[in-house]
Amino acid sequence: MNRYAIIVAGGSGTRMGAEIPKQFLSLGNAPILMHTIKRFSGFSDKIHIIVVLPAEQIDRWKQLCSKYQFNIPHLIVPGGKTRFESVHNGLKSIQDNDKAVVAIHDGVRPFISKQLLMNAYTSAEQLGNAVVSVPLKDSIRKIEKGKNTAVDRSMHRIMQTPQAFLLSMITKAFSVEESPLFTDDAAVAEAAGAKINLIDGSYENIKITTPEDLALAEAILKKFEF
Ligand code: C5P
Repeated sequence: MNRYAIIVAGGSGTRMGAEIPKQFLSLGNAPILMHTIKRFSGFSDKIHIIVVLPAEQIDRWKQLCSKYQFNIPHLIVPGGKTRFESVHNGLKSIQDNDKAVVAIHDGVRPFISKQLLMNAYTSAEQLGNAVVSVPLKDSIRKIEKGKNTAVDRSMHRIMQTPQAFLLSMITKAFSVEESPLFTDDAAVAEAAGAKINLIDGSYENIKITTPEDLALAEAILKKFEF
């Protein structure tokens, strides 16, 4: 089956408080997004990689690629106003009539192991989809109508990426109007009737979102084994 990766890096990253988008901030010796792309190409050089970027940052990204002599082949697609729109743009860029599988991944999650990628692609090929998640470490409470109540955390999971799907299925699922519940791709697939298959993620697979995540990422990078 043909394999694709849509790496979404189309956000402005305002929660990081930095002037440049968080996906371009330095981690170790290269921008975060380069680490993420390297994970996919290091896992398999047969994966077609699509990188979704804010339209106004595409030139900057190309300059970074030449500065860092980054030459892993990838298609650049302009992002949208929301993550949903950015993923949708990525999906629309794929022309493939054969059976194919696509893993959708946050550009700011550079710590995905080969094992995790293997699991996501092969499980999606066998089951139709495979979505990475981890159990909650903290307790959670539900806030509703001015009250808060305890919740059984064993009944919940934190969703990560990659989230992998058969291409035909997920493309059709994204041809709907966006809903506020669509904070990940599994929610979109589920709204289209798919039963979601959860596979084990990892606590190292952090989404670099706020400044303290960057310090943690530097620590994980030092010990991260591919
Ligand atoms: O905003 P959030 O942290 O959920 O973003 C997750 C991923 O989605 C990030 O990699 C971000 O760059 C991407 N994104 C996007 N287009 C947007 C908003 C977010 O590709 N309009």
